[in-house]
Amino acid sequence: MTVERADFDMAIELPAFEPGWVWLAGAGPGDPGLLTLAAYSALQTADVIVHDALVDERVLRLARPGARLVHAGKRGGKPGPKQIEISQRLVEFARQDKRVLRLKGGDPLTFGRGSEEAEYLVRAGIPFRIIPGITAGLGALAYAGIPATDRRLNQVVTFLTGHASGDAVPDAIDWQALAKSSPVIVIYMGTKHLPRIAELLLAAGRNAQEPVAIISKATTAEQSVIETVLGAAGKAAAHAPTPAIIVIGEVVRLRAGLDWLGAIGGRILAPDQLGGSGANREAG
Ligand code: SAH
Repeated sequence: MTVERADFDMAIELPAFEPGWVWLAGAGPGDPGLLTLAAYSALQTADVIVHDALVDERVLRLARPGARLVHAGKRGGKPGPKQIEISQRLVEFARQDKRVLRLKGGDPLTFGRGSEEAEYLVRAGIPFRIIPGITAGLGALAYAGIPATDRRLNQVVTFLTGHASGDAVPDAIDWQALAKSSPVIVIYMGTKHLPRIAELLLAAGRNAQEPVAIISKATTAEQSVIETVLGAAGKAAAHAPTPAIIVIGEVVRLRAGLDWLGAIGGRILAPDQLGGSGANREAG
């Protein structure tokens, strides 16, 4: 098949960003190259950009000159505007007939309270659009050379928050069921409670030697990865810079062969490490 080249605008038909609308968009985990074209176009059009602390500065630099940037982030429990105040400001800006871009780290509807803000907009009668983003749980893994799924190793992957509101280990999670049913577990906001979470998973039958990776500041120039095992992960987490994504499961072993970012930095990828020691190699 041959495809004729079209103009960028004609090829993708981005929606028009109308005044009085709020676009609730994901900015991805950091690297501006991971923005969607819709989010990029919104950055270039918006009058007001209300963003979280987690949105990378390089992304914010893509804003249209003259756009107003409003920082609405809380970070690591430090006080910031309350959720309700953020929602109220979105409504105020929209009622002033601004094009309002509400930009959140990763994906707006994944551990990002995007749904609460959207519901507030619904109640206020403000029209809005939702633009998904690459969530940290997928972006961080990809940049660490760890597949979220590999058919030889797991048919299930679970994303969970390691931090319930009120600063506790989430209690709505059935750790026994999780330990048995999900070979790969990806944890957001998990470094603080990882000692307890690892304990719960071990008590539920997971193996202390199971590999764990803690991926910090993923997709930024400061990305770092700690590789450890479940039995030692709690201690290791204390040294991990934040934000960090934690991944538990045999897929972590595949990083030995797939750490493409390390390879760009000069680390040699050895073909004999493909599949790690744990993967059951299968043809096809
Ligand atoms: N909506 C976001 C998640 C917000 S919760 C998303 O979809 O990605 C905040 C948590 O996301 C952090 O505690 C951390 O676990 C994770 N996170 C966000 N950005 C990250 C990054 N660049 N590197 C590693 N973890 C990140």
